[in-house]
Amino acid sequence: METFDIIIAGAGPAGLTAAIELANDYKILLLEKNKPGTTTATWYSYADRAREYGLEDAVAIRTDYIKFTSPSQTHYMRDDCVIFDHNKVLSIWLEKAVSLGVDIRQEEFTGYEYADRGVVVKTGDNEYFAPLLIDAMGINSPIIRQNKLIKRKDAWVIYGARIKNKTPGKAYQLEYYPLNDEANTYVGIHPISNEETNIYVFKGQKNTLGNPDEMKEIFEKVLNETNPGAEKLETLSGSIVSGLLHKYALDNIVFFGSSGMLNPDGCGMGFNEILKQHKIFAQEVKKCYQSNRFDQRSLNKISDKIRNQEVIYFQKIIGAFSLYFIKSAGKWDGGVKWLNAMGEDSKQWMRNEMDLEWLKKANLRLHSTIPVAETLKMIPLNELPFIMGQLIRFANKAVVSKIKQGVKLPEFKKPKPESGSGKKNGE
Ligand SMILES: Cc1cc2nc3c(=O)[nH]c(=O)nc-3n(C[C@H](O)[C@H](O)[C@H](O)COP(=O)(O)OP(=O)(O)OC[C@H]3O[C@@H](n4cnc5c(N)ncnc54)[C@H](O)[C@@H]3O)c2cc1C
Repeated sequence: METFDIIIAGAGPAGLTAAIELANDYKILLLEKNKPGTTTATWYSYADRAREYGLEDAVAIRTDYIKFTSPSQTHYMRDDCVIFDHNKVLSIWLEKAVSLGVDIRQEEFTGYEYADRGVVVKTGDNEYFAPLLIDAMGINSPIIRQNKLIKRKDAWVIYGARIKNKTPGKAYQLEYYPLNDEANTYVGIHPISNEETNIYVFKGQKNTLGNPDEMKEIFEKVLNETNPGAEKLETLSGSIVSGLLHKYALDNIVFFGSSGMLNPDGCGMGFNEILKQHKIFAQEVKKCYQSNRFDQRSLNKISDKIRNQEVIYFQKIIGAFSLYFIKSAGKWDGGVKWLNAMGEDSKQWMRNEMDLEWLKKANLRLHSTIPVAETLKMIPLNELPFIMGQLIRFANKAVVSKIKQGVKLPEFKKPKPESGSGKKNGE
């Protein structure tokens, strides 16, 4: 049986970026069921990330804002955004992985079983062995399904197409707007060039991946109304997911990307989170290799590192507030109202790049628009333990990280008794 140091199942953004980061140190097999280097998703990101991760050649179009519209609000999120030619992104990564010696095979992962100190991975015709399997098969990962690992899932179900523009020479803008239908569907527009646009419909679903046929029907209707007779060049489909798993690793198996629900609630989006996190993921995998430990507990530390970064706590706290806005002010309208309340600080939230300074500023902005009392009213009592838990865990982490940095923490002094509250002796 062929043996590798690491087998990666799934050559989407997660599988390819992990393979590239690990290829210099390990013998890697990357399995992909479809044609490697292709995808049915579409990605917007930011100019600095395109530069940092060597994806400038895959930038299809640049724009300096994202427009969010709702029935009563408009929010321009100012940022240096880019929309990628998605297949070009994957082909750049594919080429790099091949040049680094990653063995990429078009074979479907069909199952696995444990063997001495590792796993035997099965595809239709072949069996391969490795001490470590990285599951990067996305939201429909058979490992996640078979082991019933999903605890909670929020999915944006997506269906659309790359189309030839009705009026060539005029690019669309990067925007999201609601259809205001009963299904609560939104439209996403990713312009690709003056001639082509990615248009898709999406809606949020709790604990289900929704019904793609229903989304297809809605999309056809939208396309007929907005671009009658448009030529469809390519289908877009899939989902953006966030959520929780019962376990983020099994013995000898670790999840990365959508399969590991990498996406924190409500922002960041999957592709952008993979860009931000793949180097950290690879570093943690190397640590497991160096200590030769692939048991579930050791591998869990990889996901802990990714999921417990302080920024995710900020995001969850702010995200919790955003949800109450959305619930109280009517879905998308509440969402855009909330973005407007955050003003120019909304972009760090969308990028999932927050720090304490940002949190302070965002809070002030939020409360100068909506009085604290109003915000508090939006929070249902049963959610308070969750929010308090997040705050306590965050404070705890902040203290631990300061101690590790050798920072002397301020002394907590006992409050003095209030002056003037009693007469001194003899007075
Ligand atoms: C239309 C659309 C628009 C989006 N827009 C954005 C955006 O603007 N910004 C953003 O950050 N994110 C966006 N996302 C989300 C983003 O695309 C995903 O989160 C991201 O693709 C997840 O990457 P992944 O590698 O984890 O999974 P995937 O991209 O799903 O890749 C998984 C890979 O595994 C393969 N696979 C599955 N099962 C098997 C098997 N049994 N054997 C072998 N291979 C298998 C699949 O074929 C696939 O290639 C969008 C998604 C869609 C669909």
